[in-house]
Amino acid sequence: MSGSSHAPIPDTADHVPRGPRGRQRTLSGWGRVAPSRSELIDVRGAEDVAAVLAARRPRCGGVIARGAGRSYGDAAQNAGGAVLDLTRCNRILSIDDEALLVRVQPGVTYAQLLPALASRGLMFAVVPGTRYVTIGGAIASDIHGKSHHRDGTIARHLAALRVCTPADGVREITPERDPELFAATLGGMGLLGVIVEATLRVEALESPWWLVDSDRTDSLEQTIAVMAADEAHRYSVTWLDLMARGSAIGRGVVMASNDWGPAPAAPAQPGWLHRRAGDPAALPPPRLQAPPGFPGAVLAPAVVQAFNSLRWHASKRRERGVAMALAGHYFQLDLVRNWNRLYGTHGFVQYQFVVPNGAEAGVVAAVELLRTRRLPAYLAVLKRLGPGSGGPLSFPIEGWTLALDIPAGVPGLRPALDELDELVAGHGGRVYLTKDVRLRRELLETMYPQLERFHRQRELVDPERLLRSDLGARLGLCPVAA
Ligand SMILES: Cc1cc2nc3c(=O)[nH]c(=O)nc-3n(C[C@H](O)[C@H](O)[C@H](O)COP(=O)(O)OP(=O)(O)OC[C@H]3O[C@@H](n4cnc5c(N)ncnc54)[C@H](O)[C@@H]3O)c2cc1C
Repeated sequence: MSGSSHAPIPDTADHVPRGPRGRQRTLSGWGRVAPSRSELIDVRGAEDVAAVLAARRPRCGGVIARGAGRSYGDAAQNAGGAVLDLTRCNRILSIDDEALLVRVQPGVTYAQLLPALASRGLMFAVVPGTRYVTIGGAIASDIHGKSHHRDGTIARHLAALRVCTPADGVREITPERDPELFAATLGGMGLLGVIVEATLRVEALESPWWLVDSDRTDSLEQTIAVMAADEAHRYSVTWLDLMARGSAIGRGVVMASNDWGPAPAAPAQPGWLHRRAGDPAALPPPRLQAPPGFPGAVLAPAVVQAFNSLRWHASKRRERGVAMALAGHYFQLDLVRNWNRLYGTHGFVQYQFVVPNGAEAGVVAAVELLRTRRLPAYLAVLKRLGPGSGGPLSFPIEGWTLALDIPAGVPGLRPALDELDELVAGHGGRVYLTKDVRLRRELLETMYPQLERFHRQRELVDPERLLRSDLGARLGLCPVAA
């Protein structure tokens, strides 16, 4: 479709052309639960996006953007409607080393962006736990990295966006000129328009090495205390062992790091992940790959329990100044390609919530609830977050965020997670929509009390309510027109 010209489209109720056509596909998120059928349409640029939005009508099922499909739940799918596949809009358009500004198409991934920046001595401050997400998806989720307490969300590092909306077609928005629309688009889960270009603010990368300090802890209380006491690091993330028994539940490894800064080109003692690394800024492809059709039973609780115990015992009680290169510092989850298949055909749910500072008891109570309801959290990651970015649907609030990967086939999962929602909301917290696949809409307003701001912007940019996703429909974020 790239570069094609489109005949004018009559805009009458009788004649409703559908515009560029796609192919029917079953789509799901990274957790591989709640699949649905949509018409998947390849787009190659802003012109294609504008043509689809101009041609479609809400009664044909609506339209939503999709990046790499790495959101865990049902955000990038649209049962019975259209889904725009933006992965081919993947060009880095310009890098301005002087102004520290980089223009990209939305389908550019971190796997493309970071090496391109590093080769020019540059870096982007907000990096998720996988390199395979697109910049468009990252913006739509207003993502945070492990430096959120210092660097905020991706919103803080954007100079401008070009967005295609049903009402206005392609337009540029900036935080200064369009503060409300900009704030609502960041975290707006694609429901306020399709991002067709982003201008990122980047920073100098003085060395592609990071210095990591780690502390092994014996209990959840100790983990929280060690994390709360840390003010010295730009990055921090904690792996928790929630499969341990008794008072050991919540033991973990707190990993906190800083930029290496202006220093000799390579450290004397690289960490184990990087002894082999030639170029420390390289992102080598994963060495391992989970095969399709992996039997779910292999990742059984006893196996994960043993693995976690091994990992915990293998970590030193206290380690300082281990050098890590780009891939190891940011992307340990990318070591196994398609690791989501390890959960088998039922898939898994990632439940990520945040509670404010002072509500640490909410984290402890959540872990206790997992224990009493016998929910196995195979992977658990605890992070501290800094102040939020101000967007009505943006996730972070200053406090503590816990992300839990739980196999979807576990008996009693749904009611237990409903209970967890109540607990989180009761502590003034919220769940992260880009991970969600089952939150009930009654709780959305409690968790996101500024929803009205989001709806106001939607009325302006999408009055006919064309933009629609399964997540949006489930949570009442994109009610159909009366
Ligand atoms: C292993 C792993 C680690 C992760 N680590 C982190 C982390 O550390 N921090 C964090 O915050 N998140 C993290 N995430 C979540 C991830 O960053 C977000 O879900 C992100 O949105 C995924 O991007 P994507 O390109 O896969 O988007 P998709 O999953 O395809 O889409 C996600 C949302 O973005 C919208 N969207 C996509 N492209 C566009 C566009 N061009 N215009 C408008 N809307 C668009 C979609 O409609 C959808 O609502 C992680 C995910 C995984 C799988």
